[in-house]
Amino acid sequence: MTSDVLIARLIDLIGDRIEAHASELTELDQAIGDGDHGDNMRRGFKAVSGEKEALANMPFGEALKKAGMTLVMNVGGASGPLYGSAFMAMGKSAEAMPGSRVEAARLLEAGIEAVKSRGKSDVGAKTMLDALVPVLKSIEAGADIAAVRKAADAAVEATKPMLATKGRAAFLGERSIGHIDPGARSSALIVHAVCDALE
Ligand code: ADP
Ligand code: MG
Ligand code: MG
Repeated sequence: MTSDVLIARLIDLIGDRIEAHASELTELDQAIGDGDHGDNMRRGFKAVSGEKEALANMPFGEALKKAGMTLVMNVGGASGPLYGSAFMAMGKSAEAMPGSRVEAARLLEAGIEAVKSRGKSDVGAKTMLDALVPVLKSIEAGADIAAVRKAADAAVEATKPMLATKGRAAFLGERSIGHIDPGARSSALIVHAVCDALE
């Protein structure tokens, strides 16, 4: 697959997944946040979709950087700057489309590091990192696409019993326990869309 085709596929498939699950994301955020995660994600990825042609014609890394900036500019709330930083960092880490598992893992790792530093957070705080890091580990362990999907879904479920210590959900303290983290779910949706694009 050429880079322009992959970029266009990623934009379409991520946009479709977010659109199809926007109300689910909002419901998850109503339980432990302020109920805007579906709208935030939808607004951000709609803006990215609007730039599809320009992005597809850029080198892979440049397209990731530009998409990240678009997310930062269009999404209010914590998730915009966090996903935005992740995409920008991924774009900086790789000029060209990843050509191997190792390169793909390095790309995701750069995104994760950006979320950690921007969010001053790490795994176990009940955030998107609790989906992204297990996915990275599965890729590093040699998982195929089906196993990566499973790892993402299992990681989302595993946020349920966690106590939130970052983001709005942290204000709820113990009451954050028993609910899936909305950002972990949106991260898993993006992972599924990337899997769709590669299949
Ligand atoms: P807001 O909380 O500002 O309304 P969103 O609802 O769009 O923003 O996004 C909330 C999600 O952002 C959370 O479910 C969590 O996964 C993620 N998040 C919030 N704060 C952090 C952080 N410091 N580090 C990593 N992820 C975070
Ligand atoms: Mg919110
Ligand atoms: Mg908000």
